Amino acid sequence: MATTARAKHWADLLAEEIIRQRGRSHVVNTGITPSGEIHIGNMREVVTADAIHRVLKAQADACRFLYIADTYDPLRRVYPFLDPQQYQDNVGKPLSEIPCPCQGHPSYAEHFLAPFLRSLERLGIAPTVHRADQLYKAGAYTETIITALRARDQIRRILKEETGRETPEDWSPFNPICLACGRLTHTQVMGFSATEQTVDYVCACGQRGAVPMAGGGKLTWRVDWPARWKIFGVTVEPFGKDHASKGGSYDTGLRIAREVYGNEAPHPVPYEWLSLAGKGDMSSSKGNVLSIHAMLEVVPPEVLRYLILRTPPQRSIKIDPGLPLLQLIDEYDDVEAQNRDSRALELSAISGISPVRVPFRHMVTVVQVAQGDDATLVEALQRGGYRVENLEGLRQRAAYAQRWLETFAPEELRFRIQAQLPTGVAELTLAQKQALQLMGERLRAEMSGEEIHQLIYTIKDELGTKPDLVFKAIYLALLGKTQGPRAGWFLSTLDTSFVKRRFAEAAA
Ligand SMILES: [Zn+2]
Ligand SMILES: [Zn+2]
Repeated sequence: MATTARAKHWADLLAEEIIRQRGRSHVVNTGITPSGEIHIGNMREVVTADAIHRVLKAQADACRFLYIADTYDPLRRVYPFLDPQQYQDNVGKPLSEIPCPCQGHPSYAEHFLAPFLRSLERLGIAPTVHRADQLYKAGAYTETIITALRARDQIRRILKEETGRETPEDWSPFNPICLACGRLTHTQVMGFSATEQTVDYVCACGQRGAVPMAGGGKLTWRVDWPARWKIFGVTVEPFGKDHASKGGSYDTGLRIAREVYGNEAPHPVPYEWLSLAGKGDMSSSKGNVLSIHAMLEVVPPEVLRYLILRTPPQRSIKIDPGLPLLQLIDEYDDVEAQNRDSRALELSAISGISPVRVPFRHMVTVVQVAQGDDATLVEALQRGGYRVENLEGLRQRAAYAQRWLETFAPEELRFRIQAQLPTGVAELTLAQKQALQLMGERLRAEMSGEEIHQLIYTIKDELGTKPDLVFKAIYLALLGKTQGPRAGWFLSTLDTSFVKRRFAEAAA
């Protein structure tokens, strides 16, 4: 048991505050625009929301969790990953109305949304998913559109007061989708009818006409957001710090919510960015993103949750998929033993997944010894002193370790046991040969990694040589290179008679 009291987890503190301020019935909302690959940086929003939802569900009377995909947002420009020929004409059209880049999805929006929703499932995150285009087309926004069009001048004043910038004279909170060119970025509102529920417009392409409020356009982002709060009764929402800046869309949204829609803005949970080590804050436009899919190939989903949840939203997170990632996975497995952030661990748990209790670093060694053979994997783990109870879990971890090795591992952690005596042993000094000779004689199958480690140190003392020379000799004889995994533990995973034979051969 812990002797010191831990500080409460941020999600518990936040939930207490939200219940105190906003009562016992909640709607947690999130929203991401599927204009490009939804990356690991975007993930923070839904993982943060999911943790808050889990706590509120346990402590309040009711809690709903929504994810609204901004499928009705226009394509802003031809991104570097798009074919300019195919997409130039689609700039300004809603993402839901543009063809998908691979031709395998019903729309551009769905192309990026589908893999994200699959990742959510793997992460054990199950919000009610809405697509903005469907909400608009079904008329869910119509009432808020009428209210906004009527309050145009009032909204303009709020925007001016909060942002310090004047909107153009012909500004409208509603952007009609031109019936001729399909763009919602070049239209101008000329009037509207609340009874007909239509909006009159002219477009830069020369077209003029009337569109229905349901499916004929969308509210501009700064009004769309508070309209969404009104429609769904949102009480809590995490969002990127860009929206939280002074005069940002939360500030204007809060006033539009209160003064135009007559409801309270959600409790804000602004979060900091995730950055990629050596590459800065992740952003699709900078091209330095790590895809959720790539990350879930090498990190178990519960560890990815833990990576995000152990840090409060207002602090930035730096992801280094090399060695630090390996340490993080070990920290996750060790959390209970070392009493690290056990609450973050609880909030990261996904049902049906139990810890395997083999350090990931060791797994990285063992999979390279096993080379894809399950029986060898189990033997190597058992020789290393690990009990094999959860074979399926171990197999999964082994697969993660293998993919991590292939994708992110630094060169010094990669190795291959050489079937033949490597030619490099010709360079061994007399002292190194003597060390291998003694190792070969004294090594016993029942020795633990720690004991073999001690043996290496005893032998180097007896020979009066430096430890790294002994380590180099061991690696050269087995791997044909001068670096390798921590020698004692590494040797403990190998077949002892093979190692004894090899060392004798190298010393001869
Ligand atoms: Zn596609
Ligand atoms: Zn047009």
